[in-house]
Amino acid sequence: MTFHIITIFPEAFESYFKVGILSRAIEEGKIKLELYNLRDFTKDKHKKVDDAPYGGGPGMVMSVQPIFDCVNFVKEELNKKGVLNEEIKTILFSAKGEKYNQQAAEKLSGFKHLIFICGRYEGVDERVAENIVDQELSIGEYVLSGGELPAMIVVDSVSRLLPGVLGNEESLESESHNGGNENIDYPVYTRPEDFNNWTVPRVLLDGNHAEINKWRNKKQQGR
Ligand code: SAH
Repeated sequence: MTFHIITIFPEAFESYFKVGILSRAIEEGKIKLELYNLRDFTKDKHKKVDDAPYGGGPGMVMSVQPIFDCVNFVKEELNKKGVLNEEIKTILFSAKGEKYNQQAAEKLSGFKHLIFICGRYEGVDERVAENIVDQELSIGEYVLSGGELPAMIVVDSVSRLLPGVLGNEESLESESHNGGNENIDYPVYTRPEDFNNWTVPRVLLDGNHAEINKWRNKKQQGR
């Protein structure tokens, strides 16, 4: 799976993808991250990628031209390598988009290439949503300053679903939201057994695996 991320702040992605499971997945070639600096695609002589909104109002709006050219560039490069358009999905992050959740992550994990457009400022010229992307995604009912955090969230949650990204295949099975929103992971504990008089449930210490499974199943349903 390759994530193609279009942003005016490619450097914002550096630290997060250098650590943990994602950094390992990148090293092992299980996922690939391609960052595109939107400014490289503007035809404006001052390298501007935004402009004032028609009709007035506060802030600036991201222009359609650099985004159009950048998405086309990515798609053309992929087509040259034999990638079919059906294997590519283009997504715009926007607060008004479809709500992102684990089921959406599962759907996205079926594509070979995901192209993400990260908005900034007051938002993105609506013609991008109308004509360029396949889907608009919101990661929650709040407004962020840009689409970079949403892109990281989607890269992270989709990557976990890809074969071999998590060290231990079993960790996926029991994970929260796997196979529906009602499914919640069971609570976990580690040493010490007693901390500040806060103790670990007895059943987990007794080594009776049937009982442990029963307890865990009950916890998963009861939450
Ligand atoms: N004026 C817009 C918010 C713009 S925030 C509004 O009220 O809807 C700037 C950019 O941040 C957006 O273009 C989008 O790319 C990103 N963004 C902000 N909140 C988001 C959210 N909840 N989900 C996904 N992207 C978001």
